[in-house]
Amino acid sequence: MLNCRDVAHEASDYIDHNLSWWRRLMFHLHLFICVKCRRFVSHVHITRDFLRQRGPLKASDAEVQQVMTNIDNDKPHQD
Ligand SMILES: [Zn+2]
Repeated sequence: MLNCRDVAHEASDYIDHNLSWWRRLMFHLHLFICVKCRRFVSHVHITRDFLRQRGPLKASDAEVQQVMTNIDNDKPHQD
């Protein structure tokens, strides 16, 4: 029997049908008894669908420059 940690680690493979039939059966059994993991897997599924529909994200040159400036400002000082 899988535990909640196993489900969290393998949720993406479950959604993408990349688990063996036995592992998928064990996954189903865990989801049957665990409402928290059912909710978690549902949220992962919704998030993946949303991101796939949205397409790739692209930052503007100004946004990239702002991030690089923030990284430079957060570097530890070497005296
Ligand atoms: Zn669980």
